Amino acid sequence: MMDTSLEGKTALITGGSLGLGLATATAYFQAGASVAILARRQDVLDTACESVGKTEAAAGARIKGYQCDVSSLRQLEECHAGVVADFGGVDILVNNAGQSAAGRFAEVTDEQWYSDIDLKLMAAVRLSRLVWPHMENQQWGRIINVLNVYAKTPDAGTAPTSVTRAAGMALTKVLAGEGAPHNILVNAMLIGFIKSDQIARRYAASGTGQSFDDFVAAAGARLPMGRMGEAEEVANLAMFLAAPASSYVTGCAINMDGGVSKVV
Ligand code: NDP
Repeated sequence: MMDTSLEGKTALITGGSLGLGLATATAYFQAGASVAILARRQDVLDTACESVGKTEAAAGARIKGYQCDVSSLRQLEECHAGVVADFGGVDILVNNAGQSAAGRFAEVTDEQWYSDIDLKLMAAVRLSRLVWPHMENQQWGRIINVLNVYAKTPDAGTAPTSVTRAAGMALTKVLAGEGAPHNILVNAMLIGFIKSDQIARRYAASGTGQSFDDFVAAAGARLPMGRMGEAEEVANLAMFLAAPASSYVTGCAINMDGGVSKVV
């Protein structure tokens, strides 16, 4: 039988208070992991911990929120130290925090470029570096980088995010190569359109008279499967990639997009 137990493991999920990160935190908690979720807003972290804590988990599973802007090296170092003090070394790292950032190239400022790179790329670089010694010492680790479909198919009007995400895919491959001899498996999920707080913000900004459900249904109807994905569907893949069951899978960038991407 496929082994998907995370009992005894510690997982750190950035952006774990909402959307894809929260669904993943819930899945890991239910599989028995102790889960540290990082995000900027303490009240949202508190609500997330409360809701996950109410779900059924294996004995020993705990969840705790850590206020952290992952763009800051100092805050990442402090949070990582806090997680280690509370739960022990991080066995599973999910680099998920992010937000959409796509515009016309000529209009993207240096400040926007650096901000996107710090948030999405450098946070993953820095956290991976922080968790690496523990994973290497115990010869077991999992790193999952949440990227988007533009990582493989950058397009007009998608800077800076497509460039940052492509770098995230390169980082995935570099880490997978260095991690393989130590049983540290590193993979990426390339996200298409998944219902989340990010989509709710896009709906609010659209100023449409539609209900949120109609907005999501209309946007989903344009996709190959005729619907947007659910955060829990992303969590299912994140679950597999974290679990003992994925013991020979590394260095992959998997489209998690219901067929949106034109490339495999
Ligand atoms: P949400 O906006 O629903 O959630 C984002 C999470 O990240 C929140 O917990 C937020 O908390 C946290 N976060 C944002 N900025 C920071 C920061 N600087 N430091 C720490 N935490 C931060 O996003 P999704 O769940 O939709 O997206 C998750 C990931 O998937 C992101 O990287 C996103 O870019 C990517 N993605 C999502 C797509 C989708 O269709 N949903 C499409 C393509 C990619 P807080 O604001 O309190 O910090």
